[in-house]
Amino acid sequence: MIYTSKSFPVSYGMKLREHLIIGGIAMIILTPHWGLWRAFLFWGAEVLIDADHYWDYLWRSRFQDWSGWRMFKYYNLITQHLHDKNFFAISILHTAEIFIGIYLLAYYWNYTFFMTIFWGMMFHLVLDIIWLLKYKVFFVRAYSIIEYWVRKRSLLRRGLNPDGFYKKMFELSK
Ligand SMILES: [Zn+2]
Repeated sequence: MIYTSKSFPVSYGMKLREHLIIGGIAMIILTPHWGLWRAFLFWGAEVLIDADHYWDYLWRSRFQDWSGWRMFKYYNLITQHLHDKNFFAISILHTAEIFIGIYLLAYYWNYTFFMTIFWGMMFHLVLDIIWLLKYKVFFVRAYSIIEYWVRKRSLLRRGLNPDGFYKKMFELSK
């Protein structure tokens, strides 16, 4: 089944614009309780976690292509495969390992600072998961680096190469 950019939003998660708006509303609600800087930090973490997709794309292009336009095309192509049985993706900042890391930083270093970032990222992840459930593609994303590794190995064992898929999509986006 092929989705066009109109019927299906780019990237496998909620759109950045929606994150900006919903996160902004959360910031306004939090400000009287947390103060402005903490509410702003929450919002910043909620939005910046999606830099993941940009880094992912830069890495894919071997840091040769910094243009947003081609990145848009690239994710649009990937999006058309969200319902493929063997397709799945990972966004490093959206994984359990990173969340645990941030939590440990809070515990051992600066509790308020890192827990604010933690809750901003958690808020983002919950929004993404609602989006993924809505489009019935919850398992399109690996939620842990270990999970990604295990799933990738099982694909490779069946003769499928997820990296090959991304490479092909990257070539097609030219
Ligand atoms: Zn996201």
